[in-house]
Amino acid sequence: MSYRVLARAYRSNTFDEVVGQEAIATTLKNAISGDRVHHGYLFTGTRGVGKTSMARILAKALNCLSADEATTAPCLTCDSCRAVAVGEDIDVVEIDAASNTGVDNIRELRSNATLRPARSRYKVYIIDEVHMLSSGAFNALLKTLEEPPPHVKFILATTESQKVPATVQSRCQRFDFHAISTDDIAGHLDAILKMEGVKAEQAVVRRIARLGNGSMRDALSLLDKVLSYDPDHVTTEVVDELIPPAHDALAGALMTCVAEQDAAGSLAALDAALQSGRTVERFCEHLIEHVRTLMLMKVCGQDTELVDVAKSMRSDLGATAEQFDAPTYVYMVTLLEELKRNVKFSGAARSLADAAVVRLSMSRQFTDIDRILERLDEEVAPAGSAPSTGGAKKKLTPTHAAR
Ligand SMILES: [Zn+2]
Repeated sequence: MSYRVLARAYRSNTFDEVVGQEAIATTLKNAISGDRVHHGYLFTGTRGVGKTSMARILAKALNCLSADEATTAPCLTCDSCRAVAVGEDIDVVEIDAASNTGVDNIRELRSNATLRPARSRYKVYIIDEVHMLSSGAFNALLKTLEEPPPHVKFILATTESQKVPATVQSRCQRFDFHAISTDDIAGHLDAILKMEGVKAEQAVVRRIARLGNGSMRDALSLLDKVLSYDPDHVTTEVVDELIPPAHDALAGALMTCVAEQDAAGSLAALDAALQSGRTVERFCEHLIEHVRTLMLMKVCGQDTELVDVAKSMRSDLGATAEQFDAPTYVYMVTLLEELKRNVKFSGAARSLADAAVVRLSMSRQFTDIDRILERLDEEVAPAGSAPSTGGAKKKLTPTHAAR
């Protein structure tokens, strides 16, 4: 199969295909069928949530040549629909404000806007990242927004609405695009994989969806990466190669030894992990993810949605999670993160890792020492002062808690 970038190949083409922004799609459809299409729209929301797709769908709906007027169901096959879909229509002008910040670009837009559209009903200007425009450009744009020719529509898109002047915002109808839910992203990925004829493990698809963090585009580019490894199968192994897994057998073995305060066993587990071909840095990442999983299960309960763990694994991991308290997990994550940073720049990565693992195995003692010190703090008067004659009990040092 000749490879296409998924986010582009599977961009939604109609209001009904839009994923995760159904309310906005419905409102726009109602505006079209009620002949109440505003002359200016402001689409806000983080990257990859469908702003540009929605802008192009609206442009197609306004200009589809197969209909006599704006339609909620553009045909997708006429010259206009096809040109808009790839961002190359003469009447639907896409401007990336990030690279056209100047007032001249908007002046040019203004003088063009007075001309009638070449073949369609409307001239539609889609200005992406509109917050990047200079203040001069915004002023020029405002003039057109205040008295737009009847054949002109503006669709402004931004990831940072707070940087768009209030004067511009007040001339537009604003739509806030929300982050897309993991369920919606997973459903879309599933559908795409089916169409591509790719076999995929359900848990892995969900994991990719979750890693998209509400952005369909990020999830799709992750899926692109996975498929470039193996175009026919989406498997745990491939995803583990690219992203640290939520839990990992070798990291699990090490943590079992850590729980038993068995430093020798922990060192052997580390050795086994590195023998399997992972670098110290890589194994560190896996270990951090594993400890994070245990921490969240400890704090939020073993059924928490915040970690991506198969049902069958949950009771075992949940039991392991109980072996440490939350402060110990925080200490471990900090320790491992520091290790990960240090091994990057050190010629003695292995020694640092060995030392960190021994320290992990003793973490119970370290965190207990903190508690012992705290108790001591309450009992002992400050160094150098005369023995307390009762009354004020002061802290020895204020720093222990920060460790
Ligand atoms: Zn059409």
